[in-house]
Amino acid sequence: MEQDERGKGHRLFLMASPLQGHMTPLLHLADILFSKGFSITIVHTVFNSPNPSSYPHLDFHAIPDGLSQAEASTLDAVKLTDLLNARCRQPLKDFLAGERVPCFISDASLHFTQPVCHELKLPRLVLRTGSPSSTLVFASFPLLRQKGYLPVQESRLEEPVPDLPPLKVKDLPEFPSQDPEAFYKLVCRFVEEFKASSGIIWNTFEELESSALTKLHQDLSVPMYPIGPFHKHCLTGSTSSTTLLTPDKSCMSWLDTQERRSVVYVSFGSIAAISEAEFLEIAWGLANSNQPFLWVIRPGLIRGSEWLEPLPDGFLESLGGRGYIVKWAPQEQVLSHPAVGAFWTHNGWNSTLESICEGVPMICMPCFADQKVNAKYASDVWKIGVQLENKLERVEVERTIKKLMVADEGNEIRENALNLKEKASVCLRQGGSSYSFLDSLVSDILSLESSTFKAH
Ligand code: UDP
Repeated sequence: MEQDERGKGHRLFLMASPLQGHMTPLLHLADILFSKGFSITIVHTVFNSPNPSSYPHLDFHAIPDGLSQAEASTLDAVKLTDLLNARCRQPLKDFLAGERVPCFISDASLHFTQPVCHELKLPRLVLRTGSPSSTLVFASFPLLRQKGYLPVQESRLEEPVPDLPPLKVKDLPEFPSQDPEAFYKLVCRFVEEFKASSGIIWNTFEELESSALTKLHQDLSVPMYPIGPFHKHCLTGSTSSTTLLTPDKSCMSWLDTQERRSVVYVSFGSIAAISEAEFLEIAWGLANSNQPFLWVIRPGLIRGSEWLEPLPDGFLESLGGRGYIVKWAPQEQVLSHPAVGAFWTHNGWNSTLESICEGVPMICMPCFADQKVNAKYASDVWKIGVQLENKLERVEVERTIKKLMVADEGNEIRENALNLKEKASVCLRQGGSSYSFLDSLVSDILSLESSTFKAH
């Protein structure tokens, strides 16, 4: 097959947010553009910097982020992002001044990059790592506040939100930040900066979210490039793990010993935290479900604990090999393993999309921000998952796992998940939607180059 290397001889700068759920798709995007012939420089913060030796085909440049040791933490992701937006501005400007590149590609949350690019007369393309469906909700924040839906009030949780079906008030994004107003302001600001950009690159595919993409295109009036799922492109670059933590691959041989579609894979991503009481309800619910499970318990997942201290003595041993715990898993590989029958997820967008790509139905337990919207879409729009309703209690956990893994209801959901998996694969083939959007993205980047250099 003829290789499309139109990007040859052109360098692109991509700037990542240091959060795992943002870094992974940015590195995948870098690989995709590298496979189109572009030379790539990843611009990153000193905090949580990726390991360049894992990506020998990419170049890296660290921007001083000015974070103190206490500030360099993902415990409050909004506060961290606000600090980066304030402190990286001048260092980025110093770095970019005089560089000849067609455009700058940066994470949506790093909104400071838009005014920097404007000053330097450099077009900016945005990488939005969340879904268009949840971004549409973010774009509606001022209206939702004006109509009294935000901030969310306990007494209105079950009320439908008329402009955003099928969402109810309880599905609206909130963020547990020290400063409750900070999340609202961050979201409004990055959505505002979309309008000054040269386009938005999405890790999704058109068939999955066409109505949100159309609405956003109308509202923002910038080109949309839904070229996902990123991690499923056939790439010529790295195949190394893009995660900041080292995956424990021993779980793959444990999965090999389990029956087909029997295992519940449990992971709540890289930031979410739960209380000790919730942790114990999950543990007993899993134990009582009688299904085998692979559980990612990240150090820091349980508030106030280093790692597994709250787990009762002898808990795992009493299950006779039915449960397996790791600190971090090779998630994409796990989800594609035939033994995995369900994914109990917090519905971060990467996890949601990775599950869609493998046709694995979900048990949805969103924690904050866009996760609630993703969970609602998984359960009510795409019908590929069930929500853990009510309070997180062991009987509820057991009931939900059985609903998906054993009851008839689960068969329909599984079938929907397999159908969507097929669509996620077709869109990447020649003539498919993501394939065509990527083609336009490459052409548009190259034409930005000519207009940029004319402007200089
Ligand atoms: N992930 C992983 N191993 C784990 C847990 C998560 O590799 O044990 C990866 C997962 O594949 C996904 C990312 O970490 O790509 C988490 O991103 P997501 O958007 O789902 O959630 P966030 O961490 O941003 O809340």
